[in-house]
Amino acid sequence: MTATIRIRPAEEIVSQPVGEAARLRLPPATLFSDRAMRLSHLAPGHALRDYLEFIAKIADAQQHALNNLSGVPLPTPAQLEQAREHGMPPVNAQHFQRDRLWCDVLRRMLRGLAEVTEGKVKDTIVRLEGERDELYEAQASKLLAGITFGLDTGTAPLIGAALQVYFTHLARTLGEAAIGPIDVATVCPCCGQPPTASIARIGTGEGGHRYLHCSLCATEWHMVRIKCTQCEATEQIEYHSIDDGKAGNQHSAKAETCGDCGSYLKIFHQERDPGIDPVADDLATLALDIMVAEQLDKRSGGVNLMLIHGDPGDS
Ligand SMILES: [Zn+2]
Ligand SMILES: [Zn+2]
Repeated sequence: MTATIRIRPAEEIVSQPVGEAARLRLPPATLFSDRAMRLSHLAPGHALRDYLEFIAKIADAQQHALNNLSGVPLPTPAQLEQAREHGMPPVNAQHFQRDRLWCDVLRRMLRGLAEVTEGKVKDTIVRLEGERDELYEAQASKLLAGITFGLDTGTAPLIGAALQVYFTHLARTLGEAAIGPIDVATVCPCCGQPPTASIARIGTGEGGHRYLHCSLCATEWHMVRIKCTQCEATEQIEYHSIDDGKAGNQHSAKAETCGDCGSYLKIFHQERDPGIDPVADDLATLALDIMVAEQLDKRSGGVNLMLIHGDPGDS
């Protein structure tokens, strides 16, 4: 459990894919039900079982909300053109004027979740359901700006879940043509938010290409492998996984660390586990985060809205 495995970059090079990668992978219509299924698969016997099962319930509520979401105002063609011209995301989450519809999405999700939860969790859900849109908006703005000061970390995953539904709907509705290349390779080209993790995809025409999975809208964008997803350096990249007695190279989850900027992001290998969902699997591999932080002193470049840490320096 404590030993780390170091993989020389050369071993990764051997598995570099052939063929051209698609620039984008838009979120599928079944994104959240797939995630709920994955969480339900990962939960039994897991140290975080209750938590994973709760996030599965949130994911089910998200799928229901996504299925029923319509009438969301989109950026105008002029705004889309301007974003494209300047190499900016079409719906930059930090500046984009959210329609209040997302608050309705949150409230409906909370009503549904109140029926399938109990105890303190249910109390939190009911309390949040009774709050005003202004509180939702203020919390959402902090969450999307990465500000933990004044952020209620207990309700942040619920607020984040509704925002994910809203922005995933936007990404799917805008479509690939509206999402042009942007100047910064390390944030989502659709909404400008950081990734949760990266995933080496298998499947038709994808042959092991690496994609970064957006923490907000679930759009995936291509980035070559063996490259830091924070600073784009390639010189001091290493791969670490938890030694649980499995053969060295068979782990589906690794931490891709960068000696240049001191950050890391998880990479999941779909060829080793086809059912991987970056958000679900990120939660289920928290032990790897702890190991990388404690033994390697690296900080995560990933964001998972289902698990928001308070910053002790902010309180
Ligand atoms: Zn995004
Ligand atoms: Zn770096």
